[in-house]
Amino acid sequence: MPYEPLTSVLVKPAGPDCNMACTYCFYYDKASLFPESLKHRMSESVLEEMIKQMMQQGAKQVSFGWQGGEPTLMGLPFYRKAVQLQQKYGNGQTVGNGLQTNGILIDNDWAKFLRDYHFLVGLSLDGPRHVHDHYRKMLGGAGSWSTVNDHLKMMLDNDVEVNALVVVNDYSVNFPEEIYTFHKESGLNFMQFIPCVENDPKNTESTASFSVPADRLGEFWCKLFDLWINDFEEGKPTTSIRYFDSLFYRYVDLDAPECTLLPSCGNYIVVEHNGDVYSCDFFVDPEWKLGNVMHEKLIDMLNSERQHEFGRMKANWPEECDDCKWLKYCYGGCTKDRIRDPADDTQNHFCEAYKTFLEYSHETFTRLAGQWKMEQEREARKYRIQQLIDSGEIRPNRNDPCPCGSGLKFKRCCGK
Ligand code: SF4
Ligand code: SF4
Repeated sequence: MPYEPLTSVLVKPAGPDCNMACTYCFYYDKASLFPESLKHRMSESVLEEMIKQMMQQGAKQVSFGWQGGEPTLMGLPFYRKAVQLQQKYGNGQTVGNGLQTNGILIDNDWAKFLRDYHFLVGLSLDGPRHVHDHYRKMLGGAGSWSTVNDHLKMMLDNDVEVNALVVVNDYSVNFPEEIYTFHKESGLNFMQFIPCVENDPKNTESTASFSVPADRLGEFWCKLFDLWINDFEEGKPTTSIRYFDSLFYRYVDLDAPECTLLPSCGNYIVVEHNGDVYSCDFFVDPEWKLGNVMHEKLIDMLNSERQHEFGRMKANWPEECDDCKWLKYCYGGCTKDRIRDPADDTQNHFCEAYKTFLEYSHETFTRLAGQWKMEQEREARKYRIQQLIDSGEIRPNRNDPCPCGSGLKFKRCCGK
């Protein structure tokens, strides 16, 4: 099997540590994996080894996703060092940095740094105050919306590129329009909606109360879809919703950028603060520990049999999916969503939501994909004609029939 290139790594430099206490956090409990200390921080030697390997073993384009817990707890000097090391070990690659943050510690210095080094910020902001504060609490229990919203404005004033990360839970699912409009009016045109399902630690036979029910999620996506489509201008979207963008890739027969829509997964790895490497953000547990960056190579861990086994779990979708007409647009969804609720019996918890939404949006996506394919063909024809003109093989006049054979005048077709 050819070696999978190392393109992307998720880094948790402060482990599960956080300065907030969101009710639905799935990562907070991971502290039990690292009992050696109460405070978890990546050392400079782990940082350097990880970056060195990424730059030396990685592909031509590599991306670092800094997240947690709360990655800004590391302080700005840590990230200045990270950028310095990327430059030190870089060899002409394109490097992308993403910071997924709750925004609490962002100040002007942070904002300038993030802008100057082109970090793409994913800001956890669930929507307007009543939606966000419902579950996103400070350690003392107060809401966090005012601070996060102020810091969002500070980042936008400093021209930082910011996307919204929105958790869809049992409460926020009631407000698709309010949430979408709030983000759009706040200047966050790129939105990622993350449906929440977690096991209830007090009753492991069921889901936690903040999880979003599948039928409600289906309705949420349909409403969101209408809002997204209504904002199209001249046939093009003016806002971006990551799930819809990814689905569109499937409609034009390309691999989706979102791992949940791929037939199998496991094409990135997670590096914890102490250098331990895991298969996926949602599978940071001993079973899926691949090694440690101080002792093994990232590229080998990514290509290990264990990681392949992990990826194949997704491909091992339930039998019901084999006969489902939406398989190509879903591939059974994320592996994690098949195991959080024992009642699902390995079927995806959100299967009903997928079916409702795909039924609702299929015709429109099919039409959009058809238009896109026609545009691509037109562009390809235009390019070929331009090559013939440049080489002197043809010299069409503006009013001649277009050499591409469309029947239109050249000036109205490839000569435009
Ligand atoms: S388990 Fe889910 S989130 Fe993790 S890599 Fe697979 S599809 Fe992606
Ligand atoms: S919609 Fe449901 S049955 Fe169909 S492929 Fe997705 S998870 Fe499987």
